[in-house]
Amino acid sequence: MSIAEILDRRDYLEGKTEKLKILIDKRLCKACDICIEVCPHKVFRRSKIDEDGKFYPTPSDVEKCKNCGLCELTCPDFAITIFEEGKEDGC
Ligand code: SF4
Ligand code: SF4
Repeated sequence: MSIAEILDRRDYLEGKTEKLKILIDKRLCKACDICIEVCPHKVFRRSKIDEDGKFYPTPSDVEKCKNCGLCELTCPDFAITIFEEGKEDGC
């Protein structure tokens, strides 16, 4: 398998509303819970144990998200991307 094929194998946890989409890249996330703790609006919840033995955060209450960017900034593994309607790149 080529590097390009490996990089193409995306595995995201996703939560979205009509305006916002939050993606957590499971290839990068180490399930440290920082995003769960840091979000002032309690957007993330801890998931059930995954097949790889981790309790990943799930963006389960995206309608509460104010797009403050705190979770993206504090995630030590750059695993979170937030997309806003009308913007092509994550913000
Ligand atoms: S802060 Fe980043 S690495 Fe830690 S649980 Fe959240 S998404 Fe995963
Ligand atoms: S952008 Fe702010 S409000 Fe939205 S999930 Fe991240 S920390 Fe919470």
